[in-house]
Amino acid sequence: MDKVIGIDLGTTNSCVAIYEGGTAQVIPNTEGSRTTPSMVAFTPDGQRLVGSIAKRQAVANPQSTVFAAKRMIGRKLKSPEVQRMQLTAPYKIAAADNGDAGVVVHGRRYSPQEIGAFVLRQLRDAAQEYLEQNVADAVITVPAYFDDAQRQATRDAGRLAGLNVLRVINEPTAAALAYGIGAEASGTIAVYDLGGGTFDISIMDFSQGVFQVKATHGDTFLGGEDVDARLVDLLMDDFGRETGLDLHNDPVALQRMRDAAERAKMELSSIEETEISLPFLTADTSGPKHLRRVLTRNELEGLVQDLIESTIEHCRDAVSAAGIGVEQITDVLLVGGMTKMPAVQRAVANFFGRQPNRSVNPDEAVAVGAAIQGAILSGDVGEVVLLDVVPLSLGIETSGGMMTKLIQRNATVPCSLTEVFTTSDDYQPLVNIHVLQGERPLAVDNTSLARFELVGIPPALRGVPKIEVVFNIDANGILSVSARDLGTKREQQVRVRATSGLTEANIERILAEAEQFQDADRVNVELQELRRRIQGLIYTTERSLAESANYLTETELGQIRMDLEVARRAADAADVQLIQNALRELEKSAFRITEVMYRDFT
Ligand code: ADP
Ligand code: MG
Repeated sequence: MDKVIGIDLGTTNSCVAIYEGGTAQVIPNTEGSRTTPSMVAFTPDGQRLVGSIAKRQAVANPQSTVFAAKRMIGRKLKSPEVQRMQLTAPYKIAAADNGDAGVVVHGRRYSPQEIGAFVLRQLRDAAQEYLEQNVADAVITVPAYFDDAQRQATRDAGRLAGLNVLRVINEPTAAALAYGIGAEASGTIAVYDLGGGTFDISIMDFSQGVFQVKATHGDTFLGGEDVDARLVDLLMDDFGRETGLDLHNDPVALQRMRDAAERAKMELSSIEETEISLPFLTADTSGPKHLRRVLTRNELEGLVQDLIESTIEHCRDAVSAAGIGVEQITDVLLVGGMTKMPAVQRAVANFFGRQPNRSVNPDEAVAVGAAIQGAILSGDVGEVVLLDVVPLSLGIETSGGMMTKLIQRNATVPCSLTEVFTTSDDYQPLVNIHVLQGERPLAVDNTSLARFELVGIPPALRGVPKIEVVFNIDANGILSVSARDLGTKREQQVRVRATSGLTEANIERILAEAEQFQDADRVNVELQELRRRIQGLIYTTERSLAESANYLTETELGQIRMDLEVARRAADAADVQLIQNALRELEKSAFRITEVMYRDFT
């Protein structure tokens, strides 16, 4: 089997590694850096810049430099996360036709999957150059809290980058592999991962080389960027007080402040005091204005203490969800650039009552673990088996708009669960299966993953039909759902994939791989829709015919029966035109019945 690369597609930074000669190593990018900023910029003359080049020119080109796109991946524009992001992002965020969040640069729309793909392609190129061979297979990591749509969208990003994504694994799980935990003894570990945009805490058991995630908690919107934002607020306030100027709407100044804030934060991890200096930040009639300020580690810590504390609250929840006490944890692993901050290390040590393990560079641990997972898949490493968990409960919408959970959060994957449901109305011809993910009791409060209908249920009083719903989660944490009508004995199965926002057809188009299939795809979608409509109409027409047959003339009856027969045949045909015609005729018949039903009252 070919070499499999491991990729940590981070919110802030991405990293690629490969398992070679018995160890996993990070592959430096073409500039020699071991991590690559997950940034993509578009210049006015149509050039695309990825990584550190993009980051370097962000100050001059803030509206066309996209960063933190991972926060939008697999999310809707109206989701609170994206809404919040929209308040600060200097580039334009807009919705696609289906409501998915995306960015618009120079009038062109890019999905977060496409932005992710540009970064992934950069890493793949670096790996190919380094290995001097073609690389296609990859393992990509995602935060433990990613739902199905986000995982699927990440896979799609890989596909767009020309990668064959063998596995999508949780970042903390990858980190545990990187730390080489589990090779000899057994125990329970905690992985604390505080990066630029996400926080994850995972509690895992290991024994004889087998990992099992007992619990994962976290926040997909908590990380170093929030720390930077606090610092930017401080600088803004200071500057406003001194000069009376508000720079919130000056993208260049904002970007410069953000850069300076991050730099100061990083410096304060190793020194006690630093100076922030931003000359010529802006100017008014009285002349140029500069920003200059000394910042101490103490001040920074005071500014973000609550953020750190909230990560500890998640740790508390995770430990209790795992059903253990902190004293049972044998090792604590630090992952993510933000864990270099001494206050974070102190808080973690304090909560877990032990010094955390920092033997692997926290910036690289995830990619290294992904490479090890790749080696396991290609057979280069044999003894470790990974058992991941479901981060959020999965279920379907049931009557009254409630969510009924089929798979509980923290269930070990792969897993499968079957449950039998029934109808809620008399003579209900179809059931709507609405697949949900989340922890709230009401369906509307949870994430909608997919919807499909199971049609052709024979007329019956409510509660009589038996609909078997099967949830199946594969080793990648990707869900498929099928439904079967047990009453008809006829197996009628529908499979759904969690939507990533990019439909299958969309990806094909972007790849320009199968342009000729596009028309066919469109026809298929239309065909399905028409079939659903005609089957529904056949059903209701049959029912009203039975009720009003006595009031119809022989000619009317004959016409309606014929229309019904034509419609039944058309419903099985794969011909849009045929179904449309049959539908039109049957509609006339249905109207005729309705007219007859009311004839006596006029
Ligand atoms: P992600 O996984 O979200 O891409 P990383 O693990 O690369 O993130 O962490 C990036 C975050 O870590 C950024 O907010 C960055 O500012 C921060 N960071 C990196 N190095 C340091 C440091 N020495 N001290 C404090 N924070 C750091
Ligand atoms: Mg990370």
